[in-house]
Amino acid sequence: MEQNNARHEIRFIVERDRMSGVGISLDTLAAAYELLSVTTPFRGLRLPASHDIIFQLTKDKALAGYCNLTDATMISISSHFHSQLQPLLVTMAHEMIHLHEFRKYGKAGHGETFQKLATRVCRAHGFDPKVFR
Ligand SMILES: [Zn+2]
Repeated sequence: MEQNNARHEIRFIVERDRMSGVGISLDTLAAAYELLSVTTPFRGLRLPASHDIIFQLTKDKALAGYCNLTDATMISISSHFHSQLQPLLVTMAHEMIHLHEFRKYGKAGHGETFQKLATRVCRAHGFDPKVFR
């Protein structure tokens, strides 16, 4: 279980695809964040603007994504696991739930508050709830 994690590590392993990919860049990460921010249920959460988030693109082969929620908010995504928009949006949504949870409750994990919002996200976006556990 995770508690007051400064460095949140995403737990699920994303299947790596064999597609050529769309060219995920830092701009893509910010755009994905912004797109999700204007859709249900994120629209109502008043998350920070994308220019207040530090996005990091890694090539990490073990860690698909994590967010640092203490000093400056940083969302880090590995291009190894995300060559297309759909998996990127799923991981970004996952990290955004943590961001909301941390801002509202001062901690983040995969507990009840996370699951409640994750259920809403999956219902709205058609994401697989299994990757949010
Ligand atoms: Zn998580």
